Amino acid sequence: MKSHFSLLLILFFCLSANAQSDVQKLIGALLADTPIEENLQELCDDIGGRVTGSEANKKAVEWAHNKFKEAGVPVQKEAFEMPVLWLPKTTFVQISGDVQFQPNAVAKYQSPPGTYEGELLFAGNGSKEALDKIGEAARGKFLIVETDLCLDINGLFAEYAAAAATETEAAKYGAKGIIFMASRPAGLLYRFITSKVVDNKLPQLVMAREDAKRCIRNLQKGDQLNISTKIDAQVGGQFTSHNVIAEIKGSEFPEEVVVIGAHIDSWALGTGANDNGCNVSMMIDIARQMKKLGIRGKRTIRFALWNGEEQGYFGSWAYTKAHQKELDDHIMALSVDIGSGAIIGFFTNGEEKLMPAVDQALKPVAAFGDYTQLNIPIVGTDNFDFMLEGVPNLVANHKPQVYGLNYHAQSDTYDKVDLKTMKVNSAIVGALALGFANFSKGNVNWKRHSRGEIQAIFDKNSLEFTMRMFNVWDSWVNRTRGRK
Ligand SMILES: [Zn+2]
Repeated sequence: MKSHFSLLLILFFCLSANAQSDVQKLIGALLADTPIEENLQELCDDIGGRVTGSEANKKAVEWAHNKFKEAGVPVQKEAFEMPVLWLPKTTFVQISGDVQFQPNAVAKYQSPPGTYEGELLFAGNGSKEALDKIGEAARGKFLIVETDLCLDINGLFAEYAAAAATETEAAKYGAKGIIFMASRPAGLLYRFITSKVVDNKLPQLVMAREDAKRCIRNLQKGDQLNISTKIDAQVGGQFTSHNVIAEIKGSEFPEEVVVIGAHIDSWALGTGANDNGCNVSMMIDIARQMKKLGIRGKRTIRFALWNGEEQGYFGSWAYTKAHQKELDDHIMALSVDIGSGAIIGFFTNGEEKLMPAVDQALKPVAAFGDYTQLNIPIVGTDNFDFMLEGVPNLVANHKPQVYGLNYHAQSDTYDKVDLKTMKVNSAIVGALALGFANFSKGNVNWKRHSRGEIQAIFDKNSLEFTMRMFNVWDSWVNRTRGRK
């Protein structure tokens, strides 16, 4: 292990030979041998995929709670309510008619369990135009939709947007269900969320790309195909889940808070390694090394392991409600959720003043990257409710590495994590957190946004479309979510 990092360590010690400040000590400790990899392996291989509400998820919460405790870092499990339970079991699919075979497929989150049968109809790329052309012929049919290959984050957002449009059109024309061709090659399956979430009524599957292409070829040459599918899932109503929140109290302004977080839940086709076990292990390791070195920031640093992220960021939303009275004093909330590729900068989510502050905080880790801050508001992870509450927030931006290909897939396993880069990333995030915690009062020249200022960020960035795509626009507009 040490040999992996020797070059970086030499570089680091050369840079910091004169001043072993806290931040430099922390960076050195995080780059040296730590249990971060061992912890990640436990989370992925021993506990495994951990859908919120599952036994594995509960185990993961206990595991993380113990890790902080063992490190001597004060920690709490903070309970919150999840609106509905949907735990995947099996999905069986049979094609019959002019050809017969059993394709591989998985149900999308919130597909209602049951047995369904119907005729298969090719619906092109599933766009509004494609569905308008089919029109009433879609009624009562199972639509099969082709997709572009998705290999990166832009592809993922495009896939979410296209799927949301298809769902709307399919419902409009009375389709019985939707079969999405998997956007990843070589039989790879992954779990996607339906855009209407708990309001979804349509059975929706992701079918192995090769199997879906076979169906489409047969349909295009005039074959008649029927599909029968049995979706098995454990469903239920509201239940209690937990975030794990650890903290190291600030020495000068303890009431002021810097939050750094990653979500502990995952889907369970794979084991939630790049999404998001690697960054959970990172949070634990930063807390552990700070405690070990006796380092405190001037401000309190909270290490948040969010739950219920994949279903709609329920854990971080609950935190913003439970800690409502402290939010004026939250000077920054960071979410790390884009895998283990090298961190190349941070999204500042509509607060321009964070850009120079991030530059400043990253100076001690300048040797590890050429960081660019992007003032683009991100919707899709645990920064979201902080943004909705006007709390200045960041999302780490990474090199794509293999994140897109393995996203929510069977292949999101420990072996896909770039372990070496994960360690460097932990040093970057550690430096950032401590930098923000140690800024002088005068350096913090931003403050929590008012509802009007938040709305202006959404308008300026045309965020309504993306927020609708993730089914979160209405809750902002009707003020059930976000700053009043
Ligand atoms: Zn994630």
